[in-house]
Amino acid sequence: MRTRITGLATHDIRFPTSLELDGSDAMNPDPDYSAAYVVITTDAADGLEGHGFAFTIGRGNDVQAAAITALEPYVVGRDLESTMDDLGAVWKEMVHDSQLRWLGPEKGVMHMAISAVVNALWDLKAKREGKPVWELLADLTPEQIVELVDFRYLTDAITPGEALAILRRAEAGRAERKAELLNTGYPAYTTSPGWLGYDDAKLRKLCREAVAEGFKQIKLKVGADLEDDIRRLRIARSTVGPDIRIAIDANQRWDVSTAIAWVRELAAFDPWWVEEPTSPDDVLGHATIARAIAPVRVATGEHVQNRVVFKQLLQTGAISYLQLDAARVAGVNENIAILLLAAKFGVPVCPHAGGVGLCELVQHLSMFDYVAVSGSVENRVIEYVDHLHEHFVDPVRVAGGHYAAPTAPGFSATMRPDTLTRFAFPGGPVWSAGGRRSAS
Ligand SMILES: [Mg+2]
Repeated sequence: MRTRITGLATHDIRFPTSLELDGSDAMNPDPDYSAAYVVITTDAADGLEGHGFAFTIGRGNDVQAAAITALEPYVVGRDLESTMDDLGAVWKEMVHDSQLRWLGPEKGVMHMAISAVVNALWDLKAKREGKPVWELLADLTPEQIVELVDFRYLTDAITPGEALAILRRAEAGRAERKAELLNTGYPAYTTSPGWLGYDDAKLRKLCREAVAEGFKQIKLKVGADLEDDIRRLRIARSTVGPDIRIAIDANQRWDVSTAIAWVRELAAFDPWWVEEPTSPDDVLGHATIARAIAPVRVATGEHVQNRVVFKQLLQTGAISYLQLDAARVAGVNENIAILLLAAKFGVPVCPHAGGVGLCELVQHLSMFDYVAVSGSVENRVIEYVDHLHEHFVDPVRVAGGHYAAPTAPGFSATMRPDTLTRFAFPGGPVWSAGGRRSAS
C-alpha cells in the first residue's frame, strides 16, 4: 500500500527569556526566544513524525507559523517514499513557487518557513533510516549530495562538477573522521559569558567557568557603548589569559565607518573575529571593514538570507569565517550548497547557534562537513549557548569544549510534548498565567 504525508501542524512556541536578559545584545535587548514549530505526519505504520522549526525572538512568531502553513499544499498528500527519495525536488518546488516567491524571493519569512519544512522532512527521513542527519548525509555518495543542491545563481562561483570534485576528494578518510567524531566530538565555543545584560561579576565568573570547562574560544557581545566594551573586554581578557580566543559580536549595530573605528579601539584586546559588524546585506561594506581592520577577522552569516549573498561575501573576500544558520536559509539543501561554496573558497564554517534549538540542528551540518565536505576541523568551532536544551527529546551534549556526535535517529529537533503545551502562545500556562506581559 502506498503511504502518504497526511498532516502539517504548526505551533507558536515562545519562551519568556527576556525576563533574565539571556540573549541580550546591542540590537536585541529583550528577546523572547521562540520557535514557529512544525510537525509533519504520515499514514505509515511506523508512526514516525518529522519535526522542524524556524527560530524567531518573539513578536512575529505567529506570522512565521502562518508562512509555514502556506506550504501545506506542497507537503500534505505527497507520496511518502518518492518524497523521501528526492528531497532536492521538494526543495525546488517550494523555493521556486511562482506566487510565493514574490514574497522574497528566497529571503525572509517565507524562506525561513521553507527551512522549517525542509528540515522537518530531513528529520523524518533520518528517523526512517535510523540515523542521525549528519551520518545520513555523510553516508551519501558525492553524486547523491550534488543532486540535493540547486546550483541556480551559483555557477559563476561553483559548478556541479567542481562540487563533485570537492566531495570526491573528501571520500578518502570518511570512515576515520566518522570514528574520530564519535570518539572526541566537534570543537565548540561558548557565547554564554558575553550577553550585554550581564554585570561585570557575572561576566568574570562565566569567563572563568568557560575556560575551566575546556572551551578554547568565548564570545562577547559589543556595540552598545564603547567604554563599556573596553571595560568588559579588559575583564574577559585578564580572566581567560592570552591563549583563549575572544570573538566579539556587534549584531549589525554599526555603519561601516563606525565599525572600523570601534574595532580599532578594541584591537588591543586581541579579538579573534568581529561578527556582524554591519547590515547583513552589505557585502561591500563587510569587504571594506575586513580590509580596514585586518588582522582582526570578519565573520557573518546568521542573518545572511540565502546562498547568493554568501557567494558574494566569499567572492569579495569579505569574511574569514562563514557562520551559516540551520534555519534561516532554506534548510539542509541550501546549507549543503553553502558548505560547498565555503570549501571551494577555503573559508572555515563556524555556524551560528544558540536561540532555541539551533545548537541541536547545526551540529549535524558541521559534522557532515567534517566527514564528507571540508574534511577538517581546523579553525572550525560550533557556537554553543547553554539555554533551553532541556526542552528537547535529544538535546546537545557538550563536554570538554566539544559537541558529542548525536547518535539518535533524526535531526535532534523534536521538542518535548509538555513543552509544546506549556509554552504555547498565547494560551499555554506559561503565558496565560502569572501576569506575563504579552509579546505580541
Ligand atoms: Mg551573532
